[in-house]
Amino acid sequence: MLELAKGPAHGYGLMNSVETLIGKKPGAAQMYPFLRLLEGKGLAKAGESGVREKTEYELTLKGKRFVNGLLHRFGGLVDIAVEPKLTVCAHCGCKLFSGGHAETVRGRKLVFCCSHCAASFKKCG
Ligand SMILES: [Zn+2]
Repeated sequence: MLELAKGPAHGYGLMNSVETLIGKKPGAAQMYPFLRLLEGKGLAKAGESGVREKTEYELTLKGKRFVNGLLHRFGGLVDIAVEPKLTVCAHCGCKLFSGGHAETVRGRKLVFCCSHCAASFKKCG
């Protein structure tokens, strides 16, 4: 994908790029249908070399935007896998995927999973 975003590239090189990106190497069976899909949507243009493995694909302007969007999403996934930035309840330690209950306890702004945890935390001191 990274190769595609840069310019024309062979399907084989693209598979390696995807592997670098998501740690999983797509097979030709996944990659070529994907490239043909892009082609069908007018997102990529295939060159004519006669040999399937050597076919070069070039992204159109629309395709570049599309693939950049994918990269953006994959980049986010990689971020989450490498460095979890989840907030943890200050009382029970459970992971908070969104929101949570924030309260200031003795001048410290703490985040809990719910108001009950906040109340227990204050009681326990
Ligand atoms: Zn809790």
